[in-house]
Amino acid sequence: MITDTHIHIDRKEYNSIREEMLNRSRKVGIERFIIPTVDSNKVSKIVELSENNNDIYFAIGHHSNTIEKINDKNITDLISHKKCIAIGECGLDWFRIKKGINKNEEKKRQIKLLKQQIFLSMESNKPLILHTRGAEKEIAELLYEYNNLKGVIHCYVGSKELLRLIEKGFYFGIGGVLTYKSAKDLKKNIKKIPIDKLVLETDGPFLTPEPYRKKINESSYIPIILNELSNILGKNKIELEKIIEENTNRLFNLS
Ligand SMILES: [Zn+2]
Repeated sequence: MITDTHIHIDRKEYNSIREEMLNRSRKVGIERFIIPTVDSNKVSKIVELSENNNDIYFAIGHHSNTIEKINDKNITDLISHKKCIAIGECGLDWFRIKKGINKNEEKKRQIKLLKQQIFLSMESNKPLILHTRGAEKEIAELLYEYNNLKGVIHCYVGSKELLRLIEKGFYFGIGGVLTYKSAKDLKKNIKKIPIDKLVLETDGPFLTPEPYRKKINESSYIPIILNELSNILGKNKIELEKIIEENTNRLFNLS
């Protein structure tokens, strides 16, 4: 049994295949699905899915690139929801700053937004689901300043700068990128992460693993990622699966 710790099931790409996709995934042993929030103003579908399915959980937050104002009311209302198990996804993304936007102002906005969610995480004792792209050094520095923060660097793709967060007890979400030929840094640096700090994710509908890269990503592909991880680490797949499930439970206070 294994958990997809990051999948955007609420997205329109799944509208016509959602039930099918969930059942297909359950059949291959996916026991839980975690949906992160990207825009705190648009949460109704996420909440509905989590209330209608025992095995679906969610995180409440506001993505770094979502320029709509954070919805404090939705966050306050949902943070104590019984299916809300984390804060996010949030983080820093310099890569997707649009042309014509003042870069310094935008970076300041994102840092403020992230700090707001770090505060929520500490206050609620729920871990952070962190996103970063093009800002690995800055986010590592910022998170390093805190003590007793709990969270996962979602979609870790091999940055060396992020590895210093191992010291701080952060977890690393591993997805389909691991199966890409081009993922040399990831294949090398993943060996530096303690095995009890790894969790699995698809980030569906994005980042589909090989050999299905042209398709919509879904949780039923998690065993492909597990398989690749077991090959790279030279670790027995059944043992690895068990460790990763324990990690997931520890990270998200699940049992
Ligand atoms: Zn995501």
